[in-house]
Amino acid sequence: MNQKLPEDRAEAVFEDFKRAYTDEQARAEANRCLYCYDAPCIQSCPTGIDVPTFIRRIANENVSGAAQTIFDSNILGMSCARVCPVETLCVGSCVYNHMDSPAIQIGKLQRYATDAAFEAGWTYYEAGEDTGKKVVCVGGGPASLAAAHRLRRQGHQVTVIEKGHFLGGLNTTGIASYKMKADRSISEVEWLLSIGGIDIRSGVSVPDQLSWDDLKSEFDAIFIGFGLGEDSLLSLPSADSEGVIGAVDFIAQMKLSPIDVSSVQNAIVIGGGNTALDAVRELRGLGVESVTLAYRGGESQMSGYAHEWAEAKTEGVVPSWRSQPLSFAADADSRVSSVTFQMMDENKQPISGQTKTIPADLVLLAIGQGKLGSLTTGLDGLQVEWGKIVTDDDGATGAQGVYAGGDCRNGGKEVVNAVAEGDQAAQAIHSFLMGGGSCRT
Ligand SMILES: Cc1cc2nc3c(=O)[nH]c(=O)nc-3n(C[C@H](O)[C@H](O)[C@H](O)COP(=O)(O)OP(=O)(O)OC[C@H]3O[C@@H](n4cnc5c(N)ncnc54)[C@H](O)[C@@H]3O)c2cc1C
Ligand code: SF4
Repeated sequence: MNQKLPEDRAEAVFEDFKRAYTDEQARAEANRCLYCYDAPCIQSCPTGIDVPTFIRRIANENVSGAAQTIFDSNILGMSCARVCPVETLCVGSCVYNHMDSPAIQIGKLQRYATDAAFEAGWTYYEAGEDTGKKVVCVGGGPASLAAAHRLRRQGHQVTVIEKGHFLGGLNTTGIASYKMKADRSISEVEWLLSIGGIDIRSGVSVPDQLSWDDLKSEFDAIFIGFGLGEDSLLSLPSADSEGVIGAVDFIAQMKLSPIDVSSVQNAIVIGGGNTALDAVRELRGLGVESVTLAYRGGESQMSGYAHEWAEAKTEGVVPSWRSQPLSFAADADSRVSSVTFQMMDENKQPISGQTKTIPADLVLLAIGQGKLGSLTTGLDGLQVEWGKIVTDDDGATGAQGVYAGGDCRNGGKEVVNAVAEGDQAAQAIHSFLMGGGSCRT
């Protein structure tokens, strides 16, 4: 499997926005930790990393031990250290927040330890003794990779089926490049696969190229981790003009290929969530002069993180609040030239007769992604609600031997949630198989 990315891809211009710790900085920060009994940071990490233990190991200069503590709970600990919204997770719950002192920088310490493990080639884990059972993970993103690694450690034969070319899911194709570039995600996947014996079938889509019946005849259990679908689009006049594209699609192009935005003068990103905030910052980082964030609510109504919006503002992004797209205009070449917005009141209701037109030669739609639950048709007993796969707390669906985790189950959260759900489902699959269960037909 060739996971080589083009050197000249557009994201190459981005620098890491958080500098890595030196040895001295890491030890100094680790020595500030109070090693709380009943530490709140453990509870607020979805993968339950034993944070005080790994930090104590850094303080004691046992960096390899620190990294192993992290990987024992979260095999994608290296990317999570970069991409987790720590302000709302572990760092947000640090007791220092209530003591007028800066919270411990858990993400940066996690990055220090996991990067050291990666650079040194420490791999820690081996495949377990062969159980003779075969499990397939559908999708090659964080949820499936976490499940696959855990299942391999338990001695099962594991196959990952990915419809695209690259593994890592949105960790490779979606994460803002100033947090993590695609090559770091690919390297992490290669490091994870070094456990050996995880078979990869890329360029294969389930169920159109390989049906559920095909999988049930070959495997004893199925884990579904195929994430979310395509960007949602708008059915408005001229919304199909050239230059109007989904934000997730644009971000993937930017991360994987050498797209050129040097001719773009005015870009608008429509939406108020985290994808919209990533997209406006990425456009500014790529050098687009005028970038507008258009959202139908007000600043306080955005679902995107306030700290990300604060950064976007300082980078020169201009907001257009209470603006709901009404129509698009295109030039003679069918390229978008402007967007007209209906102005909304504070209850997100249209204000009669008030519209606003903003020039644009690139418009990114960050208004959500479709859900893929309907792809599971044919798996008897599996239930789908609002496009999400319904499971019990361990990830078991109503179909015998079929489990699910990550965005396709939770509707779209964070990488760390996908890892937690993949790992948890793997534990449940192990119990199911060791108890004699199988989905084979
Ligand atoms: C733009 C953007 C930015 C984000 N930024 C952050 C961030 O900064 N921090 C953070 O923690 N989270 C972030 N997230 C969320 C995070 O990326 C996801 O929660 C996480 O990747 C979900 O993992 P997953 O394995 O469930 O799905 P995915 O990562 O989506 O992986 C699913 C994989 O399945 C494959 N697939 C899909 N359909 C099929 C099929 N039919 N057959 C076979 N394979 C299939 C896909 O190609 C994909 O590789 C971001 C999301 C987006 C969209
Ligand atoms: S995985 Fe994320 S939430 Fe958990 S401790 Fe690490 S940085 Fe914090």
